[in-house]
Amino acid sequence: MTAKRKQLYNVVIYPDWCKGCGICAAFCPKKVLRIDHQGKARADREDECVNCGFCELHCPDFAIVVRPRNGLASSMSGPTPETADPPSAASGAASPLSAASQSPEPKRA
Ligand code: SF4
Ligand code: SF4
Repeated sequence: MTAKRKQLYNVVIYPDWCKGCGICAAFCPKKVLRIDHQGKARADREDECVNCGFCELHCPDFAIVVRPRNGLASSMSGPTPETADPPSAASGAASPLSAASQSPEPKRA
């Protein structure tokens, strides 16, 4: 039996945009964030983030972004295997002419 693994998130803060207002740190339900000695938000307990979205939605300077840690892009970012066009198999790849045109030999000018 395998335990279900907890989804982890990256909490990315853009320090140039963060003005250290503390809204994100004050209202994060998991106390992920704090304001550091430089007056910038910092995700000290990133593993506790549940991606509730509060910090992203309420940061007045759009200085914080939360995304899944597995590196996968969101489902909106491209075609799924079901909707993507198949490789160009429909254009008669079996004919000798077509096979010749797909030769790895470089074309001479
Ligand atoms: S809410 Fe935005 S500007 Fe304010 S401390 Fe957090 S990241 Fe910085
Ligand atoms: S998404 Fe929610 S839990 Fe994660 S850092 Fe932001 S406010 Fe905290």
